Amino acid sequence: MWWFQSPKIAFGEDALEVLKDLEGKKAFIVTDNTIRSLGYVDIVSNYLKEAEIDVRVFDEAESEPSIENVMEGSKLLREYAPDWIIGLGGGSCMDAAKVVWVLYERPDIKLEDISPLVELGLRKKARLVCIPTTSGTGSEASWAAVITDKKEHLKMELASREFYPDLSIVDPKLPVGVPRKVAADTGMDMLINAVEAYVNQWKNDFSDALAIKSAQLFFKYFLRSYENENDQEAREKMHNAATIAGLAFSNSQAGVAHAMGHSFGAAFKIPHGRATAVFFPYSIEFGFKEAGERYAEIAKAIGIEAGAVHEAVRKLVDAIRAIMKKIGEPLTVKEMGIKWIDYSQKLDELVAKAEVSTCNFVNPRVASSEELRELFTYAFDGRTIDF
Ligand SMILES: [Zn+2]
Repeated sequence: MWWFQSPKIAFGEDALEVLKDLEGKKAFIVTDNTIRSLGYVDIVSNYLKEAEIDVRVFDEAESEPSIENVMEGSKLLREYAPDWIIGLGGGSCMDAAKVVWVLYERPDIKLEDISPLVELGLRKKARLVCIPTTSGTGSEASWAAVITDKKEHLKMELASREFYPDLSIVDPKLPVGVPRKVAADTGMDMLINAVEAYVNQWKNDFSDALAIKSAQLFFKYFLRSYENENDQEAREKMHNAATIAGLAFSNSQAGVAHAMGHSFGAAFKIPHGRATAVFFPYSIEFGFKEAGERYAEIAKAIGIEAGAVHEAVRKLVDAIRAIMKKIGEPLTVKEMGIKWIDYSQKLDELVAKAEVSTCNFVNPRVASSEELRELFTYAFDGRTIDF
């Protein structure tokens, strides 16, 4: 037996207006300064006021939130005791919202004990709304929350079926004013979510359909929306695509690019999307042996014409690298300004952490520590893997 799970999703023009009908007394918005300065906190608060809901704002969610950061947020949350938690922003704000919510409902639980196998019994005090302002991470549709353990230089990959928001609002007017670097990083994250959802060992018929659709939307609309945020059609399609890819990977799984990205991102403080994207083409080359047909199906779905499976996957990897180049996404670790001497010193740590990541265990081809070492090394200066 398996499950498919999704939040209730309001999408399309003026989707935010559903907030007017929210029933409750107090809402706690988890967001960051940038989102606040873009005016989105006011927009959301005004709708909530129409619903006669009192609002308090925590606008200090860090990018890639740390344990200390969510602890601080949860303290304020406990004092305020709301019946709604609203994650407003990119993946970091939404992940922070999920975790402060757990700490509010279950102050007795240790973060490291959270897993899909543990019943948390959430929703006794509050429910969760997620409102993405970037198009990428899919946190609004997922059961995952990633928190940074600064002391251990570790990304904690927390997951629970109870983390799916009660309501997600995918309103296409929100992803405006996103810095281009962030749009590039999060857009790549979206594509990786779609592709890894389609090839990993937990793939299933339900997630397959969503993974393919979101990959198609990405290849059709991403560059258009990236180059012109006023292209409303492209922006709306990409915003939907990000949520669809989020549903795909959280009802399936991710893969080794995410395992490596989490390990590398924590060690070198690189934003999630960029840290993962740099390993993505290599992960496909590496996974080809076990999942060549599946990658070729994605290639075909996005309109790549090729004869043999090998040729289709080669062209898919080329297409991904071409997009990364166009949006200035680094293709190698070296391009990020990291020196080999610093990187090589941390190789053992990078390998060890990626190896034990759940995202590695479910990859179509589980990477051994030797293979991870090779992958990390290839990705440093961009040698392609001969598959
Ligand atoms: Zn991701």
